[in-house]
This record gives sequence, structure tokens and C-alpha cells, in this order.
Amino acid sequence: MSTGHISIDLSAVAANWRALDAKTTTETGAVVKADGYGLGAVRVATALAKVGARKFFVAVAEEGAALRKALGDEFEISVFAGHMEGDTQLIHDNALTPILNSVDQIARHMKALPKHRFGVQLDTGMNRLGLEWDDWAAVAEIVLSERPSMVMSHLACADDPDHPMNPYQLDIFHKMTDGITTPRSLSATGGMLLGADYHFDICRPGIGLYGGAPFKDSRPVVRLDLPVIQVRALDAGEVAGYGNSWQAARPSRIATVSAGYADGLLRAMSDKATLWYDDHPCPLVGRVSMDLLTVDVTDLGFDPEALTILGPKQSIDQLADRAGTIGYEILTSLGRRYSRQSVSG
Ligand SMILES: *Cc1c(COP(=O)(O)O)cnc(C)c1O
Repeated sequence: MSTGHISIDLSAVAANWRALDAKTTTETGAVVKADGYGLGAVRVATALAKVGARKFFVAVAEEGAALRKALGDEFEISVFAGHMEGDTQLIHDNALTPILNSVDQIARHMKALPKHRFGVQLDTGMNRLGLEWDDWAAVAEIVLSERPSMVMSHLACADDPDHPMNPYQLDIFHKMTDGITTPRSLSATGGMLLGADYHFDICRPGIGLYGGAPFKDSRPVVRLDLPVIQVRALDAGEVAGYGNSWQAARPSRIATVSAGYADGLLRAMSDKATLWYDDHPCPLVGRVSMDLLTVDVTDLGFDPEALTILGPKQSIDQLADRAGTIGYEILTSLGRRYSRQSVSG
């Protein structure tokens, strides 16, 4: 087999959900947008349903429709993009709950699907999605009389617990929503770790479920093993890969590994990342190609059949650091060519 292999530890996903849920006294949902952060929305949601998650969140209506078909009727599936032109049929047929973001979306929803469940997002300073203060003041009364599923907002800097934006947004959210009886939701993973003031009625963790920062105590979820296609001996002075960017300083053994930037191993990792054979680090040398990596296995002392790039020795965040990005991007970039298998560890 020449494709890499991803193992997804669903018992770790479930344990992470439980650990986050245990930090609150309110309801914990689960964000499974972007196909469950690249790991498979259906398998993740199915595993989380078994441990008690009842509310799932996706980015767009198409994702919600696919999830509804797999999960059945009993769960709430909310769509962050709200009710877009052309979404009405999908929202109706799949009993999705659009989180309405603007007066236009509210008008579209009320006209197209009166009495169909919806939520509302408010902007508290991130300036990305949601109604601003003036618009909310104008429509709040009529919107709330339709009994929305929730009124929510989103924190811009919650991964940094000391950031002044956190209490600032919290204060605005209070001012916009205090006194209403509709359930309120403010926090994703980062906000859940900021303490009870941030929890309100429903929390919406994503990355923490998948083993990523800022949930430091999370259990790792993904392992990615890559097959070695061949290993060759280089003399000191020989080069490897495109652009001759790496030159052997000593007689070396170089393994050619089957995975590249087309599989989400970003070109920015060139000459920076490390692969592992058990506890032994093997540096990635030269440029990342579309389908191949070259890795220095000289110090291993033997030729490995496969190397590990995500696993016990290297988390999604550690690999992300090497590429100047975040764990979220590593996960959601993981390529379609890999085989994927759920394991229960
Ligand atoms: C992605 C997202 C989440 C989940 O965020 P994490 O940082 O992955 O926990 C929650 N709410 C909204 C609105 C989002 O866009």
C-alpha cells in the first residue's frame, strides 16, 4: 500500500468531549464543520452522540444535510452560515437550524420558512458574522417572540486567556442579551477554558475534541503513518529533492516517503519538520514535493518501512509550529488520499 494511513481515536474524541463538558454545568454541543475538522463528521458525531452530545454545529447547509442523513432526526444541527439564498430547501428537508446573521437573513427565513426553527448570532466585536447592536435593537423583540433555539456570539481571542478582548466581548454579550429567556451561547473550546462566566447555556467546542490547543489536557486523536517507498545511500556532498535545497554533510541514508503537499503536508514544512520511527526522530530534508518527502534516516541504523508524522511524539500543534500555522489547519488539510480508520484506544 502506498498511501499514508490515518487512525482516528474515537474514544479519545469522546473523552475530550466529556472532559470539556465536565468543566461546565451547562449543555455542551460539538462543532463538526469541515467534515469534523478533517476526521469525518459522521464518525465523530456518531461517537459523541453515544456519550451524550445532542447539539451539533456545521458551517454550511450542505454539511448539515449530509450529517442529518447519517444521524437521523433526534439531534439539533445548527448552521453557522445562517439561511443563504438557495438554502431553503436543504434547511427545510433536513430540519436544519440556521443561525441567522443579519436582518436580511432574518427576513429571508421568516418569509421562506415561517415557524421553522432558527438561532441568531450577534456580533460582539469580531466583525465576522452576526447582527450588530443597532440592528439587534431594532429586531430583537420580534425575533425573540419567535422563540429562537439560541442567541450566540463568538470570541475572537479566547485562545489567549489574558487577552482584554475576552472580557470586552463578554460585557457586550451581556449588554445585548441580559434579561432574555432564550438560551445563550458564547464559547468555543477557548472560551470554555476561561471559566464559568463564559459558559452561559450552551458551549460549542471544536478543536479541543480533536486533541488541539488551547485544550492542553486533551487526549491526542490522530496518528498519521506514511509508507517509505525506497531508501538510498548518498555520499557527502550529494543533494536531495527539488532545487537542491539540501546537501548531505556526511554519507547519508535518505528515505523517500509517500506523501506531500497534495496530502496537506504543507510546503512550508520543507527542511523543518521531523518524522518519527517510534522514539527516534528522522529529519525531513529538502523540499516537500506534491506526493513525496525525503527524510534522513541515517541515524536510525536501518531502513524503516514506514515513518510517523503525527502520533505520540508529534502532536498536530507541534507539527503546525514547524510550518508556521495552527493545529486546525494541519487537521483540515489532511488529504483525501490517506486511508482513514477509526480505532478505540
Ligand atoms: C469553529 C467555531 C467553533 C469551534 O471553535 P473551536 O475553536 O474549534 O473550539 C465554535 N463556534 C463558531 C461560531 C465557530 O466558527
